[in-house]
Amino acid sequence: MRLTWLVLLLLFIPHGSVEALQTSHVPVFDGTNAMLHLNQQCQFGPRPPGSDNLTLCREYFTGILESFGWTVIEQNFTYLGVECVNLIARYGAADNATIVLAAHYDTRPLADQDPDPANRTRPLLGANDGASGSAVLLELSRVLPVSVRSAVEIVFFDAEDSGGISGWDWIVGSTYYVSQLNTTRREAIAAMILFDMVGDKDARFLRERGSTRSLQDTVWFLAADMGHDDIFIDTLGGSILDDHRPFLDVDIPALDIIQHNPLPSYWHTVEDTPDKCSSISLQAVGEVAETFVVSGLANDGTFVPNPPDFLYIALLVALPIIVVAVLILTKRR
Ligand SMILES: [Zn+2]
Repeated sequence: MRLTWLVLLLLFIPHGSVEALQTSHVPVFDGTNAMLHLNQQCQFGPRPPGSDNLTLCREYFTGILESFGWTVIEQNFTYLGVECVNLIARYGAADNATIVLAAHYDTRPLADQDPDPANRTRPLLGANDGASGSAVLLELSRVLPVSVRSAVEIVFFDAEDSGGISGWDWIVGSTYYVSQLNTTRREAIAAMILFDMVGDKDARFLRERGSTRSLQDTVWFLAADMGHDDIFIDTLGGSILDDHRPFLDVDIPALDIIQHNPLPSYWHTVEDTPDKCSSISLQAVGEVAETFVVSGLANDGTFVPNPPDFLYIALLVALPIIVVAVLILTKRR
């Protein structure tokens, strides 16, 4: 009888996976630094693929990443005659990262959603759509503890945002990046987190439908735990074609953090300028990301998003066997 009660008790123990994540890490991410990176990118001007402005931007990224000890690799590819570059940052010699943190750093060549037809042939500055995600990554490259860095790869994708213009497709850079991953790398990456349009003054992120649910649960839990549930809204949003898709297509868990439902009013217009963004939003996103990385990594550098769930399942499987064994042993006596 006592055993039956024990079984029932174990079955009804609350067993949330994310609740048990270590959240003792105090993040040091500085939204003001991230905002400086956002402004600096915009000072280069519009940054479409193949442009000199994008080259300047890439040199700026490389200088910052290297100053914090990261090794920077340019992944070159040509698309419709345009030289494109994904920028990859790794720590030390390791190329076996289990977490990929990513953003696109190119900007849309034309402001084709602008209410003024005269502006639709002009390029846009991409303060939120392009610079904000990259700004978060640059500040993360400074604040991530050295002890976790070899488990992290930071990737800036080119050619995300030219879809539908001059025969271009969307998400070209991330598609190329994933095409270059061998089977070992595909299996090693436990989480890809994408930051896209994360800088709006009134940032609101609904749960993107295509993203891997377990990653989303973890990030949304951390955000709520840190008091950012006014930004990370616990509501299902829409499905977005973005740089996380090529990862999902090869079964790599991936999460898109993106303001999309609704899209910002200035999306793909010439009004996508730094004054629409704020360090407070970047701060919230950055400290959630920092905590996610630090709390999700085991001591050996592997990424363990849901260890309590695994233990719970193992217990559930083992328990009936133990019960039967005890009953048999008791009978034999
Ligand atoms: Zn865009």
